[in-house]
Amino acid sequence: MQQLDTDILILGSGGAGLFAALHAHKAAPQLSITVAVKGLLGKCGCTRMVQGGYNVALAKEDSVERHFMDTIEGGKWLPDQELAWKLVTLAVERIRELENELGCFFDRNPDGTVHQKAFAGQTFDRTVHKGDLTGIEIINRLAEQVWSREIARLEEHRAVELIKSRDGGLAGVLFIDMRTGEYVLVRAKAVLLATGGGPTMYRYHTPSGDKSCDGLAMALRAGLALRDMEMVQFHPTGLLAGTHTRMTGTVLEEGLRGSGGFLLNGKKERFMPAYDPKAERATRDFVSRAMFTEIRKGNVTPHGGLYISMGHLGAERVRREFKGMVERCADCGFDLAAGLVEVVPTAHYMMGGVEFAADCSTALRGLFVAGEDSGGVHGANRLGGNGVANSTVFGAVAGDTMASWVQKHGRFADPSRAEVEAAIARCEVPLRAAKGDIEAMREKLYETMWERVGIIRDANGLSLALSELGALDRELDGTGIGSGTRAFNLSWHDWLNLKSLVAVSRVITIAALAREDSRGAHYREDFSDTGPLERSAFTSIRNDGEVTMKPVAFTRVRPGQSLLKPAASYAN
Ligand SMILES: Cc1cc2nc3c(=O)[nH]c(=O)nc-3n(C[C@H](O)[C@H](O)[C@H](O)COP(=O)(O)OP(=O)(O)OC[C@H]3O[C@@H](n4cnc5c(N)ncnc54)[C@H](O)[C@@H]3O)c2cc1C
Repeated sequence: MQQLDTDILILGSGGAGLFAALHAHKAAPQLSITVAVKGLLGKCGCTRMVQGGYNVALAKEDSVERHFMDTIEGGKWLPDQELAWKLVTLAVERIRELENELGCFFDRNPDGTVHQKAFAGQTFDRTVHKGDLTGIEIINRLAEQVWSREIARLEEHRAVELIKSRDGGLAGVLFIDMRTGEYVLVRAKAVLLATGGGPTMYRYHTPSGDKSCDGLAMALRAGLALRDMEMVQFHPTGLLAGTHTRMTGTVLEEGLRGSGGFLLNGKKERFMPAYDPKAERATRDFVSRAMFTEIRKGNVTPHGGLYISMGHLGAERVRREFKGMVERCADCGFDLAAGLVEVVPTAHYMMGGVEFAADCSTALRGLFVAGEDSGGVHGANRLGGNGVANSTVFGAVAGDTMASWVQKHGRFADPSRAEVEAAIARCEVPLRAAKGDIEAMREKLYETMWERVGIIRDANGLSLALSELGALDRELDGTGIGSGTRAFNLSWHDWLNLKSLVAVSRVITIAALAREDSRGAHYREDFSDTGPLERSAFTSIRNDGEVTMKPVAFTRVRPGQSLLKPAASYAN
């Protein structure tokens, strides 16, 4: 087994991982830094897929207080207020850094100021963007900057276990080099978990295929607590183009509904006004719930979803204003401008993740976390535009913290051989067991999570899901992939993906059972009330399934209060 040493090891090359690498390098250029990633640096993860943009309070009429209040109210009073405050204040610095130091070009107004567009759930137009391909601009510039520095890369290296030392701190990480299938053990003084969560256990989902909750599964096995895991955000309009294409599940942007698009059921009747006075313009959670209810009633399209209809706005206008979306639909045989397009709610984002402090440290000495692997910034709902702000803001914080922490406290420790051997034994299971049907197991997982732990939940469905997930995990342990070949064996990685997804699905389900109310993204048919906001508490869960309800500390503002002066509040 190959063994390497690096002062700082970063897992993942999204906005969080790349910002961490650049900041750590700037703060302490003498330290060795390695970015290890399951895909190719700059080409994988969800930051690259960001369409709409980046929330930041830049305009004179806007303020960080207003952005903060939108984040807290959007998160239904569950966000950690210190983390949310850090998000909104440091987003201003990060966007300046992206433009002025790292070379991003964002869209501008005729007067030269940065253009900021409207996004749902916000009281001010504060979303900075580059057309509707903002993530490509950000990741391309970050990747170029990383390539131009002495930052080592381990590409197509899949992290499989956080390995501790005898004193209980983190000693390093075990990887599989996907190109050869060999194990690689990297010792590090500090490790950043930035593998980006990603709810790909649902039948319909938006995140990139390289994301399978590996980081969260590793954190659970390392004994860390995850918070808010029941909070999975669904985007209402995922494209539904059949099972033969990976385009199914991808997002058709929110602006379609915002600009007046209609949702129709299988009988081609508009249904949203019967569910919500704001109809199609209601927030993501309400619209997704109404759509799911309509689907359950059986009022569905040929592929089992619903339609979005834009034609009444004028085909020319739709072609002009939604060029990218029109082309995406045309690729799948749909005419968005004049016809009907099949859509379905799609799992988009996990608000939950590893509990962490505002400096990105965790309860495990030497382990830091940032981006979608972390929990607590968004509470029960993430505002569109706050995702990439989160990963870049906390990625940078993590880079700064790790650089100074390593210089003060960092040391190489001996990785526990027993832990390495146990992790390898776990990974070897599918290479030894008799061949089984991995595809069928993935379908089963999709079915369980979509039907019982999805948009509408209740105790019976969640309990059933828990036993189905247990059975699936046992079945996986007895299932092989039918080939001992290690080099680029994607069936092997599929098996490992499923193993992580089942582990994280289990904690989502248990947390959803524990939260006996309905809030933001979490809706229980058997507990439809939100409950008193003053007594807001978040779920904290560990690998043994034990859930603790922890009270939210209202460190800056209490429910019913606002940081905004009354005259200025919600003018927009
Ligand atoms: C289609 C789409 C559109 C979006 N649009 C917006 C938007 O407009 N605005 C917004 O704010 N947010 C948006 N988001 C959310 C946003 O993309 C994420 O919140 C954010 O980019 C996550 O950043 P991250 O660095 O945590 O993870 P990612 O950017 O997803 O990076 C994760 C990295 O970890 C790597 N990795 C995974 N597992 C392993 C492993 N086992 N070992 C090693 N490496 C691993 C991956 O390969 C990847 O490099 C969108 C998401 C999607 C899917």
